[in-house]
Amino acid sequence: MEGLCTVDTNLFSPSHPKSEEQHRREICAIGKWMYDRGFIVACEGNISVRLDEGRILTTPTCMNKGMLQPHDLVITNLEGRQLAGERKFSSEIAMHLLFYSMRPDVHAVCHAHPPTATGFAAAGRALDQALLPEVIIGLGQIPLVRYATPGTPELSSALEPFVPHYDALLLANHGAVTCGPDLLTTFFRMETIEHFAKILLAAELAGDPVLLSGREVAKLMAARARYFVTPPPGGGAELPETSDGSDSSRDHVSLTRSELDALIDEAVRKDRARR
Ligand SMILES: [Zn+2]
Repeated sequence: MEGLCTVDTNLFSPSHPKSEEQHRREICAIGKWMYDRGFIVACEGNISVRLDEGRILTTPTCMNKGMLQPHDLVITNLEGRQLAGERKFSSEIAMHLLFYSMRPDVHAVCHAHPPTATGFAAAGRALDQALLPEVIIGLGQIPLVRYATPGTPELSSALEPFVPHYDALLLANHGAVTCGPDLLTTFFRMETIEHFAKILLAAELAGDPVLLSGREVAKLMAARARYFVTPPPGGGAELPETSDGSDSSRDHVSLTRSELDALIDEAVRKDRARR
């Protein structure tokens, strides 16, 4: 349709630094992708990009994000004060600003209501099962953040403990939010959440999902560097639920008192035998 942003894949070539105009066009393209894929309807969702240390470029409120033009976007500072743009930004910008203030590595944030993932969030379920290698490598798991009214400080408080540790989160009875080093990666994370939710739903309809073991998950986590995945800087995030319930990140071993005594006795005996 004339006047709308057409998606030019060259748009996302990794030229750095990008001009403000490039960022504006990228946000319009991602808005169209989110709308076309049904991740948002009507005036839902919002997208933002960090332009520089003090300025965030974001989508306006009360507009369909699939039909945006570059001049519709708004610029705010990190405190949420509008610096430029004729339209008004969304009250949900607070959620974006929380990511930018807590995570210097984050340069883009996407918020949407993808229907299958949001269905899990509305059923009070996280996407935290070790089911698909790509999801485990890319995101670890997608926890569920407790419900709070959208656009309020209560939602930011609920999100805060998760922000340093995860790049993708479900918001109970609401939707999903993703962050990343650039807008395309951030959008792909949103796409991955919805794809994972669809597959999990299909697996549950087909039978009992078969989870990967803690050992398999550990191998995938170790392979992250090979796939150029940089985990969130907070570290210490919980790993997905595995078939054996083991926590492969810490390699915990449990022993009874007598098993421990026997191990110590054996070590002492071996040490004496060597002398
Ligand atoms: Zn929302």
